[in-house]
Amino acid sequence: MPASANPVRAAVVDFDGTICEHDVSEEILRAFATPEWMDIDIRFQRGEIGSRECLIRQGALLEGTRRDMLRYALDRYAIDPTFAPFVAWAQDVGIEVAVASDGLGFYIEPMLRSAGVAGISILTNEVTFVPGERPSFFLPNAHPVCVGCGTCKMQAVLSRRDRLGPVAFVGEGHSDRYGALYADVVFAKKHLVDICRADGVTFHPWETFDDVRTGLESLNGSPEWTGPERCPGWKTP
Ligand SMILES: [Mg+2]
Repeated sequence: MPASANPVRAAVVDFDGTICEHDVSEEILRAFATPEWMDIDIRFQRGEIGSRECLIRQGALLEGTRRDMLRYALDRYAIDPTFAPFVAWAQDVGIEVAVASDGLGFYIEPMLRSAGVAGISILTNEVTFVPGERPSFFLPNAHPVCVGCGTCKMQAVLSRRDRLGPVAFVGEGHSDRYGALYADVVFAKKHLVDICRADGVTFHPWETFDDVRTGLESLNGSPEWTGPERCPGWKTP
């Protein structure tokens, strides 16, 4: 552990709307899917379906090749310019950074690479496009029992907590709820602010990763963990 080590040992970070200001999965759906994808999204945002069902039903509406969708994303969207310096700082002070994303996922590694970010874990869903067939999903980061989410952000946080120590979670949206519930330190913006308030989760507001770095640098000793007994997602059928 470096001499200047931060009390937080890992940071789990959402991608769409967080590392990238845009929700790239949504933009791909807007361009390559029929408009019903929005109705499915609203049902997810209302809590009527889990993110896993949302993803699979929206994915079935996509028409196009992975290559065209990736080109579309890379030509139009870039990651937040403050993320690469944040990762470099985090690595210097011994914070392991992981991306946890419950979207289409395939564009994350190429977008990070094009911004010079490498060597961090990416936990997301895997989608395969076969011409003439519905896309198929493989969910290597799903919870072994709970079927609510595609990628379990609770598990992403808790596995790092067990292995490394206190975990920070950085996010902005509905799919970040359970990551925030279980993290030691939460950075929230946009929808996640209201969700944290409703769940009674203390959070730091943030706009850029410079704010996240400042917030982590200003921690006084180890944060106190207040995670709940069990993820409310377990109630999702
Ligand atoms: Mg997001």
